[in-house]
Amino acid sequence: MTHDPLSGQSLMTHVQALADGIGPRPASSPAEWQARDYIRRQLADLGLTAVEEIRFVSPDTWGYAVITPTLLSLLGSFIGRLGGPLRLLGSAASLFGAYTLGQTMRSARQPLSPLFPSGPNATLVARIPPASGTARRTVVLVGHTDTNKHRQTFSPRLKTLLRPAATLQVSALALNGLGTLLGLKRLRWLGERLSLVALFTCLLDETGGFVDGANDNASAVACLLGLAAHLQSDPLPDTEVWLAFTGAEETGCVGMHALLDAYGDRLRDAWFLDFEMVGAGRLAYIQWHSSLSYWDSYTPDDDSLAWAQRTASAYPDFAVGGVPMTITEEIGALRSRGFRGICLTGVGADGWLVNWHQYSDRAAHIEPACLERAARFALAMLHTLATP
Ligand SMILES: [Zn+2]
Repeated sequence: MTHDPLSGQSLMTHVQALADGIGPRPASSPAEWQARDYIRRQLADLGLTAVEEIRFVSPDTWGYAVITPTLLSLLGSFIGRLGGPLRLLGSAASLFGAYTLGQTMRSARQPLSPLFPSGPNATLVARIPPASGTARRTVVLVGHTDTNKHRQTFSPRLKTLLRPAATLQVSALALNGLGTLLGLKRLRWLGERLSLVALFTCLLDETGGFVDGANDNASAVACLLGLAAHLQSDPLPDTEVWLAFTGAEETGCVGMHALLDAYGDRLRDAWFLDFEMVGAGRLAYIQWHSSLSYWDSYTPDDDSLAWAQRTASAYPDFAVGGVPMTITEEIGALRSRGFRGICLTGVGADGWLVNWHQYSDRAAHIEPACLERAARFALAMLHTLATP
């Protein structure tokens, strides 16, 4: 009997190597680079040695992407108090802060990122050509290598407040700008108070340590490596498959934006399938992404949604369906730039992502059967796409 790279046991080996062996992998840290070394070694064992490294820089934590816009908006408000032409300048700064925070909430590009202290990072890309030699389509499978911090705001007790609080934060930053622009002191007073509370909460939220990220997102990397092994020995007839191991998803999908900067033209018509936290819960495709605020939700494109639906009805044994989900991830980056994309995820018993940004996101809490279902459903999607 040959070893099956898509078995739960095989996939679990990768999760353990990343989450237990390497442990927490903050974006741009040596640990995230170790994860990329592990991926390279696994791919090389499969004969995939032409792995491209798309370099970029990223901070280690997502805090910069929420704290900097908040500081900018408050600064604008204080400058605006000086009056005269500074009122216009201050309100512009505050409104720009609100805009950039919204960008963060839906994983679009964060314009303030050049200001953040950053380290070197990379997205790894491996390509598996079709058996026929002629690609009629390209599918990009996506899984990120970094992990987030343990965050109180994502705890079971507080997570239902995530979206209202983030919405209030974006609104507060806008109020600073509007209050300053229109000379409405009470509005500005309210905006500043709310912004200060938000700033304090964000700073507190930064005090946690980084998590092992077994579910988020070693589970995805495991599926990509399993699918790479499967497709290397049994390639698709006329579909080229790219495996994109993205760096720095947790700090604003920076690695996905770097991939699109480098290959946006070539991938304009590609199909993107993102894996997020597929190691526990009921497998589903996301048909509506909440983002973190009420202003910034997004959806997959119609073609990708139809692709997932068609696969789910052709393979009813997987019992996969579409769900709305509280999440922001790389489909947000793709959709904000006009690309296709859909995300597979695991839905917990409470309808939320399992162990999202909590210390409990450990390998011990991963179910091999969930990993296997995700990888096999993705393979079924690859076959569906090639079937008229
Ligand atoms: Zn993730």
